[in-house]
Amino acid sequence: MAPNSDDVVKGAAALKISDEPEKPREGSAAVATVPEKGDPNISANHMGGDMWVVKPVPGAGYGAVALRKIARGERIMADAPLFVVPTTVNDVKTMQQIIALGLKKASKSQAREFLTLDNAHKANGPLVGTASTNVHPMGGGGATEAGLFLAACRINHACVPNAQNKWRADLGRMTVHAARDIPPGEEITLTYLPALFPWAQRQAILKDHFGFACACATCSLPPGLPRDASDRRRQDINDLDEKLGDGKRIVKHAEAMLHDAWRKLQLLREEGITDAWVSRAYHDAFQIAIANGDQARAKVFAERDYEATVACEGKDSPEAAQTMDWVKNPKAHPLYSGKLQWKQGVDKIPKGLSDNEFEKWLFKLPQDGLSN
Ligand SMILES: [Zn+2]
Repeated sequence: MAPNSDDVVKGAAALKISDEPEKPREGSAAVATVPEKGDPNISANHMGGDMWVVKPVPGAGYGAVALRKIARGERIMADAPLFVVPTTVNDVKTMQQIIALGLKKASKSQAREFLTLDNAHKANGPLVGTASTNVHPMGGGGATEAGLFLAACRINHACVPNAQNKWRADLGRMTVHAARDIPPGEEITLTYLPALFPWAQRQAILKDHFGFACACATCSLPPGLPRDASDRRRQDINDLDEKLGDGKRIVKHAEAMLHDAWRKLQLLREEGITDAWVSRAYHDAFQIAIANGDQARAKVFAERDYEATVACEGKDSPEAAQTMDWVKNPKAHPLYSGKLQWKQGVDKIPKGLSDNEFEKWLFKLPQDGLSN
């Protein structure tokens, strides 16, 4: 599901590979353990156990649906790639060869299952078209590889998703965790988009790259005020995210930056976003505090970053372990240096405040709140 990888595959010729005789699918013994609601021909269902199952969902073909309550932070899957493609290859023929080679190493049933997935780029042929519709980048922005994950690619998109995926190079797997509690019967969703675009832009990108019109709860907000409010929040979050990325402000405009982080977290909450955006915002706040010598606030922000990172990536995540180091010893962070205008130790975390007063202390908010 890599919007960026799409450019790679434009103009491909079709490649027919459907000459294999039909055979019974492998793993028929395991099929017996698949909950009755699931399609036993979908290999992902062997991974879902009693937690989730792939089955038809209204308006979106197949999707992964929770069979029981999945609590925030629970690992939904850890999926190994069926094959891996470089995101840097422009040549369609080369890409076809890479995919064909990858499929040769897969079991016949998995290779066949791959070809049943959606293909939003039919002009590029079944291999390249299906791959470019379904691969996940293996890593963040600028990832040089993308993988086809037969279970993860069954998870449909929502513009406010309830789960978070993460390529775990240390495990060689794509993990998916519940970013909030998911009740039984609810579809598990991820975002396919790299940023929080407004409605019109989301619709255009999803149609162009993945071939569907998003009808998620956010996209179904009535035009006018509700939809405009969501669009405005997303724009504001993006603007704040950019401002928070400006390292030059971190000392000179420290307090304003901390207020930006607070606003961003408020907007994320209002928009219902609980995925990796939250840990990112707390990490920003942590950096602002520690760059100005405030170990007390830095420790609290690191704790919140840790909670959010563990929820979205798992306790075994290397990034969570790194964040725990900052919790234990905030001043070990490389930004702890320079002009220490807020210098104070971790013993200065106030005790006995109400939640509201604690938040005001944490983000250095004025007593009467921020003006907007
Ligand atoms: Zn949507």
